Amino acid sequence: MTGRLYDLAVWHRLRAKQLQDEPLCRHCHARGIIELATDVDHIVPIANGGAPLDQSNLQSLCHLCHTRKTNSENGMRVRTGCDINGIPFGGRHGWTQPVVDADVVDGGGAEKYPSSPQTPRW
Ligand SMILES: [Zn+2]
Repeated sequence: MTGRLYDLAVWHRLRAKQLQDEPLCRHCHARGIIELATDVDHIVPIANGGAPLDQSNLQSLCHLCHTRKTNSENGMRVRTGCDINGIPFGGRHGWTQPVVDADVVDGGGAEKYPSSPQTPRW
């Protein structure tokens, strides 16, 4: 069912509504980090009996947090936090993205969320 679910128009509508209702990553927000959500996660996985189309079983996450949660649910090793030098694990996370001065950004906002990982400059 899971594969077909993500092809259904009802899923696409529910996913869009979830991201509209909760645009920030819930897991990052709980840690005091503001990160745009890109993924919609089933809080209780469908494989564990979670309701696939019930919005109360959905949460918005960034891709990194979604990957971490999914890997954890699948019994894979998950590293969080930072190394001994304070460098965060997960080079694609917002922690490692450059800060853009809002006065410099030209309207569209694409520069605010670069797609390629950046090396921290500290
Ligand atoms: Zn996140």
